[in-house]
Amino acid sequence: MDGLMMNRPLLQSGVLDFAAESFPAAEIVSRRVEGDLHRQSWAQTRERAVQLSFALQDMGVGMGDRVATLAWNGHRHLEIYHAVPGIGAICHTINPRLSPEQMAFITHHAGDGLLFTDLTFVPLLEKLKDQLPPMRFVILTDRAHMPENTLDALCYEELLQGRATDRDWPEFPETTASGLCYTSGTTGDPKGTLYTHRSNMLHSLATAAVLGADLGVQPRILPVVPLFHVNAWGLPFTCPLIGASMVMPGPHLDGASLWDLCQTEGVQSAWGVPTIWQGLHSEMLARGGKPEALRHIVVGGSAMPRSLIEGFEKLGIDVNHAWGMTETSPLGSQGSLTADKRALPLDQRMALKQTQGRRVFGVDMKIIGDDGQRQSHDGVAMGELFVRGNTVASGYYNNADASAKAVDKEGWFGTGDIASISPDSTLTLRDRAKDLIKSGGEWISSIDVENLAVSHPDVAQCAVIAMPHPKWDERPLLVVKCAGTARPTLEDICTTMDQHLAKWQFPDDVVYVDEMPMTATGKISKLRLREQFKDHVLPDLR
Ligand code: AMP
Repeated sequence: MDGLMMNRPLLQSGVLDFAAESFPAAEIVSRRVEGDLHRQSWAQTRERAVQLSFALQDMGVGMGDRVATLAWNGHRHLEIYHAVPGIGAICHTINPRLSPEQMAFITHHAGDGLLFTDLTFVPLLEKLKDQLPPMRFVILTDRAHMPENTLDALCYEELLQGRATDRDWPEFPETTASGLCYTSGTTGDPKGTLYTHRSNMLHSLATAAVLGADLGVQPRILPVVPLFHVNAWGLPFTCPLIGASMVMPGPHLDGASLWDLCQTEGVQSAWGVPTIWQGLHSEMLARGGKPEALRHIVVGGSAMPRSLIEGFEKLGIDVNHAWGMTETSPLGSQGSLTADKRALPLDQRMALKQTQGRRVFGVDMKIIGDDGQRQSHDGVAMGELFVRGNTVASGYYNNADASAKAVDKEGWFGTGDIASISPDSTLTLRDRAKDLIKSGGEWISSIDVENLAVSHPDVAQCAVIAMPHPKWDERPLLVVKCAGTARPTLEDICTTMDQHLAKWQFPDDVVYVDEMPMTATGKISKLRLREQFKDHVLPDLR
């Protein structure tokens, strides 16, 4: 028998309307690219998102159209986040750290027809525009700051001017696509995760449920995690849901800038990757203290080293170590301690915080061993982590091949992470099966680097492995078996990469081997290479 309750679509526009009405005192503070500090309320954010939605419709943007952004965290980017899905279109956030080639690939693949950019990226787009699909550009600024440009770009503030500030948002099914975010493929081209209104709303509800108590009443949150990384971990939808204020850092993410912003804006909770926290922690040590109101950080994207967790905790900052992926919206597990664990001695608490935390409601987890069998959740048995839930991708945008490989026969998504799970669902990541290196929160595909390196005539075989790095978490080391007696230098080999990769994706160092260790199935054994070079010291650490 069906129940007798209403079935209203979970649409993202609902959460913006809610915040505009219910939380008049909360604000969006933005350190803008133009250099000023800007403030507006959720009500003003809604008014401007409504204005933008009318402008988009006047420009012919409709249901299912992809609208791209290339921008830092700021109120205008947030307005796009709500206006575009508000009218049933799809917000495609582009990571500016991609190489020009990757950027060209994803804009074509997404079929972007309109791109909003911060002033910062105008020169980059001018260089790149012939490689992009035909599209219109809008620069996120006002007339006074509009640069001369060859993009024939429109001015964002002019686009909004004089338009109506209220509307009833259109209604459509909650399964309508709302956002698109590309992630690095283990092999080949980036793959697009296509979020729905329903998945984003359920993700925010789950985030609010598991983190709400730690965040406190209407917290002031600093999303250092960019809006181009998995919806800034859902904060554009979770913050309006809980009436949080958002303090947007713009382009300046160094320790000193973040310390100052946290202090002047009374930030209580800040979210980002370990590299960012390394910078902020050093700044705290240099200044002899933390920003006064800061009491909570959420860290994910890479493993947070225990020393850093302890460093923050000793300063009175509660560290929540979370795990997730672009394909999981992203929150899959998080490390808020249960009541019974909070009283444990520091040492035991730190050991718990070093794990990736307990699963979030709505995300089921299983681990599959080398034998293809489910492993027990005893905290010891290891295997590939598979996840399932309403906030997990069922495939990739316009990519039948990758979609077919993404989920197993039982409908679980394979993460490529090797993990163990404790009886209380605590996840511990042990290794990574996917061939990717994570540097400062951004991916480097080892396979892409290897394919380019091996095109050098003096390289017979090569492999790229991740080396731990105190600042970047991981950096690539290139292992080469030479074709003859000549030993090509790193610079020599990198010339093959110039056109295809961003400079930060180049290997940091090269080492040479006489023979590559091989696995039983005839692949280069990266496990053995990692073991062999575990004591290698990268040049910038010598
Ligand atoms: P992305 O799709 O770029 O968000 O990357 C997701 C991947 O980052 C995961 O599959 C893990 O390999 C890695 N990752 C995310 N969070 C953590 C964490 N807390 N500890 C270790 N690795 C992590």
